[in-house]
Amino acid sequence: MTQLDVRGAALSNESGVSPFVIAVYKRLSDDPKQLRVDMPEQTRRINEIIEDVAREVAPREVIVREFKDDDRSAFKRKVKRIEFDELAGELEANRLDMLVSYDQDRYARRVYSWSYILELAHETETRIRFYLGGELNVQDAGARMQSHFKAATDEYSSAHNAERIRESLITLAEEGKQVGRVPFGWKRVHDFGTSGRALGYHDVKEPKEARVVRDIIKRVNAGDSLTSIARDLNKRGINHRTGRAFTPVTVRQIIMRPMNAGLLYRKGEYFGASQAPALVSERDWRAAVAKVSAPERRVTPGPTPQHLLSGIASCAVCGKPVRFKRANGIPAYQCDHVSHKEAPTDVYVRDAIVARLSMSDAAPIFATELDMATDALAELSELRDELRALEDRATKMTQAGYERNWDRIQSGIKDATARLERAGDAKLALVAELYGEDAGARFDALSLERKRAAIRLLCKIKLHKLGKGNRYVGPTAETVEIVFI
Ligand SMILES: [Zn+2]
Repeated sequence: MTQLDVRGAALSNESGVSPFVIAVYKRLSDDPKQLRVDMPEQTRRINEIIEDVAREVAPREVIVREFKDDDRSAFKRKVKRIEFDELAGELEANRLDMLVSYDQDRYARRVYSWSYILELAHETETRIRFYLGGELNVQDAGARMQSHFKAATDEYSSAHNAERIRESLITLAEEGKQVGRVPFGWKRVHDFGTSGRALGYHDVKEPKEARVVRDIIKRVNAGDSLTSIARDLNKRGINHRTGRAFTPVTVRQIIMRPMNAGLLYRKGEYFGASQAPALVSERDWRAAVAKVSAPERRVTPGPTPQHLLSGIASCAVCGKPVRFKRANGIPAYQCDHVSHKEAPTDVYVRDAIVARLSMSDAAPIFATELDMATDALAELSELRDELRALEDRATKMTQAGYERNWDRIQSGIKDATARLERAGDAKLALVAELYGEDAGARFDALSLERKRAAIRLLCKIKLHKLGKGNRYVGPTAETVEIVFI
């Protein structure tokens, strides 16, 4: 609560007449971007009323006491509105002469809350005035009845009007809660008061499902396809919530959720931390999102490849990817221009990849990207703090100032996110998983699909023409050209 002597000396008098105390109640609960900035508008309207009242009660001094609850829905019972309670206390103690607010529904959207205020005002002969609706004649039974009807209508529309429902959803979203069905990976815990009355809920990890989500994200980062992940989940008998089998589409939907990393987004803008605990690190989640958003993932996958380099290595002459074919019964990678035996070529490429990943300088090779990701993450965290601070200051700012800051922070968040997505891509996850002294064993343990993904991420391979007439001696640096990327 803040106490302001807004009229100052002009209205004060020395005659010992008691001042006229106006309690202003302001509440904003709505969309933080759209409606919270209405606070200056509310303030302007309320100031007009105060000026009118000051003229009316002159020469009594006017004291304005402001009670303000932000981000509170008067409809949701479990939300405690601290200054509302203070205001009711002051009213009960008969320390107020008038209540002023923008509208009756600022105080309460529950009939019983409004009845409480109205009865107190009646008993203490406190006047009530709204910007919308003017003075309410508290001493008139008919006016009080009308006011009760309005409260009942407000309560009804709170519960049923689509706009009101949207508002309460936003309030939930502001608290970081998932609206609607509990997503796969979490379970809902209902909170009860000592009397057994339901107070609300919060979401916690569902251990088995959380493990599945972590596994999906790890596998997609390691290069597995959505199809093979879905197939494996179904093979392991894991059920999606719906009771239906997993499909590439449902797996993708699970990956895309910002809540996996404990983040809450609305219409593409960051809104704060999710109430539910994160299942994976933000970096892993972003890497997975980048992977499944990559253009090559959008096409329907064809038959599962059976060979390490088909479609990956290209012909040095024409640039087209080579295909697997049997040349005189011998498995080979071929184009019209080149033909390389499959087995020795696979071994040669495998050894080159493993050598690269085993090198002691493997980490420095990727250090720039790692640094970039770390910087972007740090910046994101700072911007999120700034956004939180802006929300706290919102009511003290002009609409233009608030929006300018909001836009600046959001564009910073988008920029840092884009950098993080570029840097924290699947290559890093793969390298982190494979590199080290036993890179060979780790690489060999991968499925064919993941080996192919690793090769794609790490290098480009060109197959050159073999020397004419010479006996085939196996792949060399000249015939199988590997360029790391
Ligand atoms: Zn060719």
